[in-house]
Order: sequence, then structure tokens, then C-alpha cells
Amino acid sequence: MTTVDLVALRDHLRPVGAALREHALAIDADPGALHTLLDSGVLPYRQLGGFPPGYLDDPLRVRGVPVHVRTCVERAVVAETLAWGDASVVVGAPGPSMSGIVVDDLADDEQRDRFYRRVAEPRTWTFFGLTEPDRGSDAAALETAVVELPGGPDDGSAPGHGSPRTVLRGHKKYVGNVARASLGVVFARHRPGPLGVGVYLVDTDRPGFDAAPLVLTGMRSIQLGEVRLRDVPLRPEDTLGRHLSPSRRGLLGAVRTFNRLRPVVASLAVGVTQAALDYVRAERSSFTADERWRLETFDDRLHAARALVLQAARAADDDPADGTLPAAAKAAALDLAEEVTHAVPPLLGPGARWEHPYLDKLVRDVPGLEMMEGTRTVQRLTLAQGWLQGRARHAELV
Ligand SMILES: Cc1cc2nc3c(=O)[nH]c(=O)nc-3n(C[C@H](O)[C@H](O)[C@H](O)COP(=O)(O)OP(=O)(O)OC[C@H]3O[C@@H](n4cnc5c(N)ncnc54)[C@H](O)[C@@H]3O)c2cc1C
Repeated sequence: MTTVDLVALRDHLRPVGAALREHALAIDADPGALHTLLDSGVLPYRQLGGFPPGYLDDPLRVRGVPVHVRTCVERAVVAETLAWGDASVVVGAPGPSMSGIVVDDLADDEQRDRFYRRVAEPRTWTFFGLTEPDRGSDAAALETAVVELPGGPDDGSAPGHGSPRTVLRGHKKYVGNVARASLGVVFARHRPGPLGVGVYLVDTDRPGFDAAPLVLTGMRSIQLGEVRLRDVPLRPEDTLGRHLSPSRRGLLGAVRTFNRLRPVVASLAVGVTQAALDYVRAERSSFTADERWRLETFDDRLHAARALVLQAARAADDDPADGTLPAAAKAAALDLAEEVTHAVPPLLGPGARWEHPYLDKLVRDVPGLEMMEGTRTVQRLTLAQGWLQGRARHAELV
């Protein structure tokens, strides 16, 4: 449970969100412009990255209290406040990102140290390699495999000349930041069956790791990419959770990661919705009674969605194995973000998406949020299953 003053954290980060807004269109036009934002120093991405204590000598301080942004609640508040400026930069910035959460859950001490030491270096991106072109994000069906090759040349990837080599072979697609990442995690199958999927910590400078960015219509700062894994050498110490039982590591362990990430994606949607509502009010001073009523209804629903997302984040901190509320929060927040971002441009006239490119960007970013961490259809299925099993009955759903 967090002891951080969340209102103070929001207030502290509001100027950062405003600074992101100033850079948003330039980065949308060219994701390379993210470097200009990083050079400007206005985004304390290392302090917001969720490093464990000990890896940063200057953690974020809010009213004098150090905040490490490690809990789901803290991450959600940070994500929402910054998404008011640019949701895509929140996910596209350097740092531990999604892999950090899976490392926190599965890594042993040596692996955790290896990961965070490296990522603590400035401008170090990480990647989270799950989705595949033919299998999507259905982790149980993935094709990327851990392959044992019979004896080969000793290239340092395995002990002893001529001993078998273990490699990763496969193809991942729609992976954030992968073409500029230094390290990250890869989901791969090492044997058939539900316990046969493992998570591996991989440096991107290994031979056979071949990544390239894709062209995107939204969330461009994330630079989604694809990576071909052409017999990338694996070492025994790359297997995350090697100290855990088979039921805790791999896929089943990773579910906890997804449950912790969903409230954060939902928070991005809340931040985008707030941005759209604030934008239209800044651009138009008077509304008809009917328009005013619609905007006020959106305000009320946003208030409820924010409360649900925070409730889901608290639930994920308390029991990351239960994804019911995170699924509800993501579905509700995305419903609202989609509705509001489509309702707002007509209030500014027929050519609003041309004349207000920031609004156009919000409309294009929301489908990216929909796909991140699973679509609403899949979230509703999770919510329904949880409900039938008696979970989340206390929650006020919006
Ligand atoms: C901005 C962005 C960032 C991303 N970052 C990463 C990343 O860093 N790493 C990574 O590995 N992946 C990443 N992804 C990929 C993303 O995780 C997947 O695209 C997402 O989880 C959806 O999975 P899918 O593509 O397999 O679609 P599917 O799950 O196959 O869904 C396709 C369609 O079928 C529907 N559907 C699916 N199952 C059912 C069902 N049982 N019943 C009814 N309808 C169903 C869905 O609602 C959807 O409409 C990213 C995607 C985006 C857009």
C-alpha cells in the first residue's frame, strides 16, 4: 500500500505533463524528436521509471518525501498526469518500462541487479517481447522457441568448445521501443504444454537479434517494431524465475505483470480523456445547453472512471494474481476515451481534426491504447469470469 500523497504527486507532475504537450506534435511527426525532449531535461524519465531503491541516487521527491514509483497506484497517477500531455511518450520513454515489472516478479537477485544496473544508464530503452505476427499476444500459442543446437563453435555463448548451444529462434511484432532497446524480455516456448513457456532476459547486441521499427498511425513515440530472433544465444542465467517453481515462473508468473500493467494503460486513457475535455474548453468559450450537458456528463463519467482505475491499481498492488478489476478499469476507461475523443472534434467545427492537430493525435492514439495489454473484448471476458467466480462484487463499475 502506498504512503505517497497522490494529490501532491499529481500537482508535482502537472508541469511535466504540460511540457510533454509542447513537444507532442513534433514527436508525433517524427519519433526521433523524442531526443529533443530528452535533451530539454523536462522529463525526469529515470526518476519516473520505477527503479528499486539503490539504483538512483536522486529519486523523485514530492514535498520532501522520496517517491520510487514502484506501486501500481503510483504508476497509475504518474501515467495519467503525463498522458494529459502525451500518452505515447509515457510508454516510449527510456527506462525499465514493462520489462521492469516482469523482472520484479520473476528475476532472482543477480538478474534484477543485471537488469537495473544497465537500465539505470541514461537513455537506455527496454523491450517486452511477447506478441508474434501469427499468434498475436496469445502467449499460450506462441511459436518463438528455445532451441538446443548440437555442438557448435565456442562463441562465448556456451561453456566449452563444441558443447550444445541454446538459442532463441522466432519472430516478434508490435514490440515497443525494440529497435532502440539495449535489453528486454522475450517470451518463448521451451517445451509443450502450459508450463512450457519461459521468459528470458536478452541483450539486444547479441548476434542474430535483428530489430526494425514499424510505421504507425498513433502512439508514434513508442516506435513499435518487429524483431527476428535468428538463433540468438541464450545462457542459463537468462531464464527469469529459474529459482521459482515451474508454476510461478513463465506464463503463469507473467499474468501478474499484465494485471499490474492494465490499470496503468487505463490511466493513460483517463489522462487522454481529460486532455480532450480540457482542450475543447480552452478553444471554445461558450456552448449550447445541450453541449454543456454532454460535457458535464463526460466529466462525471471521467470522475467515476478515475476512481475505478485507482481502485483497480490498489487491487493489483494487493493481489496481482486477480485481474478482475484491472480488466474492468481498462474496458471502462477505453470506452470513455474513445467516446470523448470522437465527440470533441465536432464541437470545434467540421474541419477540427485538420485545424487542431493535437485533437487529431488524441483520436489516433486511443486505438493504440485499446490494443496495449489486450482489447476491451478480452477485458470484458476476464471481468465476466471474475464476476462469475465471485470477485470484484464490491466494485462500483462505470
Ligand atoms: C501501442 C502498442 C504497444 C504495444 N506494445 C507491445 C509490446 O511492447 N510488446 C508486445 O509483445 N506486444 C505489444 N503490443 C501488442 C499488443 O499487446 C497486442 O496487439 C494486444 O494484446 C492484442 O492482442 P492481439 O494482437 O493478439 O489481438 P487479439 O487478442 O487476437 O484480438 C484481435 C481481435 O479479436 C478479439 N478477440 C480476441 N479474443 C477474443 C475472444 N475470446 N472472444 C471474442 N473476441 C476476441 C479482440 O477483441 C480483437 O478485436 C502493442 C500494441 C500496441 C498497439
